[in-house]
Amino acid sequence: MASITKKSQFIGTGCLIQILGLLLLFVFPIGTIIGILLLITGSRLKVKLVCSECGNKIDGKEVKLCPTCKADFSTTSEIAELEPDNIDKIIDV
Ligand SMILES: [Zn+2]
Repeated sequence: MASITKKSQFIGTGCLIQILGLLLLFVFPIGTIIGILLLITGSRLKVKLVCSECGNKIDGKEVKLCPTCKADFSTTSEIAELEPDNIDKIIDV
């Protein structure tokens, strides 16, 4: 059965952006603000949605039909939360 799958990209642009963001956190105050923004941006880039059938990128979890192979996602249950919540913990510290 076709479903939308989460795919993390640990080595990639999102990861590089997060490393840069972490370094900038120590450059108070402007770097801290930019750093937090980069961490949030990086976390979004790190997780992408793909079709379980063809592996192609899906624009959002609300998509009901794969644009590439026309697999039907509407019958499958909700996918897990998209955003890794460790970013919020970093900001809280
Ligand atoms: Zn597909």
